[in-house]
Amino acid sequence: MYSEPIDVNKEYALLMDEQDPLAHFRSEFYFIEEGIYLDGNSLGLLSKRAEQSLLKMLESWKALGIDGWTKGENPWFYLSEMLGERMAPLAGAAKEEVIVTGSTTSNLHQLLATFYRPDHGRTKILADELTFPTDIYAIKSQLRYKGYSPDEHLIQVKSTDGMTLNEEEIIAAMKEDVALIILPSVLYRSGQILDMKRLTKEAHERGILIGFDLCHSIGSVPHELSEWGTDFAFWCNYKHLNGGPGSSAALYVNKRHFGTSPGLAGWFGSKKEKQFDMDHELDHAEHAGAFQMGTPHIFSAAPLIGSLDIFAEAGIHAIRQKSLRLTRYMMELISAELTDSGLIIRNPKDDLKRGGHLFLEHPEAARICKALKDRHVIPDFRSPNGIRLAPVALYNSFLDVWNTVQILKDIMKNEEYKKYPNERDVVA
Ligand SMILES: *Cc1c(COP(=O)(O)O)cnc(C)c1O
Repeated sequence: MYSEPIDVNKEYALLMDEQDPLAHFRSEFYFIEEGIYLDGNSLGLLSKRAEQSLLKMLESWKALGIDGWTKGENPWFYLSEMLGERMAPLAGAAKEEVIVTGSTTSNLHQLLATFYRPDHGRTKILADELTFPTDIYAIKSQLRYKGYSPDEHLIQVKSTDGMTLNEEEIIAAMKEDVALIILPSVLYRSGQILDMKRLTKEAHERGILIGFDLCHSIGSVPHELSEWGTDFAFWCNYKHLNGGPGSSAALYVNKRHFGTSPGLAGWFGSKKEKQFDMDHELDHAEHAGAFQMGTPHIFSAAPLIGSLDIFAEAGIHAIRQKSLRLTRYMMELISAELTDSGLIIRNPKDDLKRGGHLFLEHPEAARICKALKDRHVIPDFRSPNGIRLAPVALYNSFLDVWNTVQILKDIMKNEEYKKYPNERDVVA
């Protein structure tokens, strides 16, 4: 599979770590039992800076009470906008195009309620059959809400290999009855990156609006949403962005849609200076902030203050470069060292198509994950037969990757996994 010679020795990993310009960020994170954490694409680890910003926020409540809304280091009233501005470079957006608010799912509902406007024979929503289930649930419920049957009006592009999508087939499905397209940036199982720039252009040429779910790319892969002209996007901040469990999510709306009334309105979508007039006529903000609903979840957003500092310092392009090198190194080691294990690499191998994680397939995947956990390697099991491994640029090392492959080799060679039942846990 790989033509270049592979150095499988530990010394190579150590050398790569020595030369790694991001290596110093590792000491800013808390690790679990000195283990190897490879699940940063499900829940990122806590950094000391994120911890500090949350503690400071608690202090502001303690010290200021109600005045915390407008006083202190990070006044709560402006926090969602401030974080949106600081997150915008990761999305390739202008500062007023991003707001930190809600959850991924609630933001998708908001964007569907706003931008799904069935009209003049354009009634269908185009999605795909591999996307994260919550997106499909939201789309189906919004279709029903507007009186359209999902059976007829939701088109899900098929995958021929059960793992990846073909952009040609997505484009071929952009028919004249499609009103809106919702697709993932990076597929949560295979880690395939879709060509968002191309898909945006093709959708617009056909008069269709398009939005992306960035949950698996934000903080791992750079985006240029403004430049591409993508209509909207939404994402969670607890995966690669390390915002903590249930962290406030975010959304992006392209400038050209500023002024569009929010489909699901609430008083936090007001122009700031008007909000406390308490008028019953909403005068919504003329930026992404218009799509907020109620009072922001301050403590669920606070860790992002510290976390985004780290991203600003490290730079998303350096993060992407290291991430690609880590995943490539892991694939090379697996190909060289686990030849008869039955493990199959199912993520795209091409750098342009590969997100931040590997996806390995094996019929015994559930129990292999259990065996890895007992050896202090934290993977991510995806039913029915997938193992996701995410070496994260900010806190994983080349040595982590090397050690993981050695442990995996033991587990497979000695059939250690046979000690465990081959079934998934409640949260997998
Ligand atoms: C994690 C994830 C979600 C989760 O949505 P929540 O509303 O945060 O629970 C949605 N979509 C994708 C693609 C995800 O990876």
